Amino acid sequence: MPCIHCQSEAIVKNGTKTLKTGQVLQQYLCNTCGRRFNERSGTPMARLRAPVATVEMALNARHEGLGVRAAARVVGTSPSSITTWEERSSSHLPAWSPPAGAGGDVTIEGDELYTRVGENLPPRSL
Ligand SMILES: [Zn+2]
Repeated sequence: MPCIHCQSEAIVKNGTKTLKTGQVLQQYLCNTCGRRFNERSGTPMARLRAPVATVEMALNARHEGLGVRAAARVVGTSPSSITTWEERSSSHLPAWSPPAGAGGDVTIEGDELYTRVGENLPPRSL
């Protein structure tokens, strides 16, 4: 994968970051621009402040014809959040597909936030 900042191919692995779920994200350092990123940087999943399932439900509701406010009430969020998600998903369409692993976990980059998609699993303690 090229650098997400400058598209240089001169990147090296630069350690890993372990999320609360135990999932490990490979971190990279770009030798051209000197910036760091990980395998999820630059995607709609990066720093998303809501569970993926909620975002998908909201976007589906919008797709079914609900207004922003109605969709917000359905999923229990604010209209501005839905607007933000719509903008993100439309500007990153090729990447808008949560990479659900074999275990059904979807982890979102974010220092304190993660969620799980896999309703048959008990929640882990924080
Ligand atoms: Zn770079």
